[in-house]
Amino acid sequence: MSYVQGVLEEAIKRNPNEVEFHQTLKEVLTSLEPVFSKRPQYVKTGILERLVEPERQIIFRVPWVDDQGNLQVNRGFRVQFNSAIGPYKGGLRFHPSVNLGIMKFLGFEQIFKNSLTGLPIGGGKGGSDFDPKGKSEREVMVFCQSFMNEIYRHIDADTDVPAGDIGVGGREVGYMFGQYKKLANKFTGVLTGKGLTFGGSLTRTEATGYGVIYFMDQALKAQGKSFAGATTVVSGSGNVAIYAVEKAQQLGAKVVAMSDSDGYIYDPKGINIGTIKQLKEVERKRISEYANIHPTAEFHEGCSGIWTIACDIALPCATQNEVTEEAARSLIAGGCYAVGEGSNMSSTLEAIEYIQSKNVLFAPSKAANAGGVAVSALEMSQNSMRYSWTFEEVDTKLQTIMANIFKNSNEAAKEFGYEGNLVAGANIAGFLKVAEAMLAQGI
Ligand code: GLU
Repeated sequence: MSYVQGVLEEAIKRNPNEVEFHQTLKEVLTSLEPVFSKRPQYVKTGILERLVEPERQIIFRVPWVDDQGNLQVNRGFRVQFNSAIGPYKGGLRFHPSVNLGIMKFLGFEQIFKNSLTGLPIGGGKGGSDFDPKGKSEREVMVFCQSFMNEIYRHIDADTDVPAGDIGVGGREVGYMFGQYKKLANKFTGVLTGKGLTFGGSLTRTEATGYGVIYFMDQALKAQGKSFAGATTVVSGSGNVAIYAVEKAQQLGAKVVAMSDSDGYIYDPKGINIGTIKQLKEVERKRISEYANIHPTAEFHEGCSGIWTIACDIALPCATQNEVTEEAARSLIAGGCYAVGEGSNMSSTLEAIEYIQSKNVLFAPSKAANAGGVAVSALEMSQNSMRYSWTFEEVDTKLQTIMANIFKNSNEAAKEFGYEGNLVAGANIAGFLKVAEAMLAQGI
């Protein structure tokens, strides 16, 4: 058995039942095989054994009182995975599915994604099994305050800088920032995704979604294709999906479907993104409402049906493992020639294998959705300078970063014998910088 496969097997054994973590370990480690055969110094210094073990994992109680006066207890997490190239950086996810295995999968992915941005940020992730759906404003606020009551002692602008993810947006970041300030008596860039009036960066809201499109635009162009006139399906209707749709439309795509956890809307005339923004960002309503406003649209219950719609480009922007092998098969049968992951690890290993076997362009999330954390790092820079850049300045930097991620992933794939395979290319390009830093810093 190879060194890499040995470490993989051991890591899976040491972390039983953490299926999502196992999935990312398998994907990343397997693709790194050729690196280890070329660089024996990484084997000697146990880079991989160290990389798969988080530097620190914090699990804590989050008590809060609901609107009926009942005590509720949730579980909070922060996984500080790797700080070789910078302070831990990564979002907080509030969703009932959150557990340690999900936090570790997200934290592990974040190491490589953050490295790919070219900016000095390590990998971390956190969150809670709290479900924000249906909670009142007050309940969300007190939950965020209670979450910060514990996590504040583990974070700092130079140590660990959380941000949003599923279930955590500008509102939640604002409540957590307010509580941090009370507890630490410091106004620093300890969180990113802040409001524009208190240190947030222009373009942060749009960054993940825009970044997916900037990345895909480069990848499509390399194959002589583009978004212009392309029928596009985008799952999700959160921050990533909304701004992916907005930018894809600006580049001439016809986006015909979006979804939420209830189901999906199909509008053959093209989605009106203004309506989606109003429903989701302002009124916090369900996507099914869209069909009441636009009679050309149909609402279908259930999420997986969205992948049966014939399209040229598919952008999963909802959650992990939303593209199964079955979904991949129906997408490709419907003529889809490109899949770009907006959500973290949108596709199962079997789906990726199938898509790649058909020579369909596949952009993995750690490359394609790195725009969000990249602009978070730019928010950190602006906070350190006590300065702010214009929308155009940040957007231009974002475009350059996404183009570099594509170039570096593509070149790493070529160099290590994976020509055209952006999954392996992104893993290797992200890994090399972290491995060099770990090597230089000693054991
Ligand atoms: N949650 C986002 C991600 O998965 C952004 C993290 C951040 O801005 O720190 O990359």
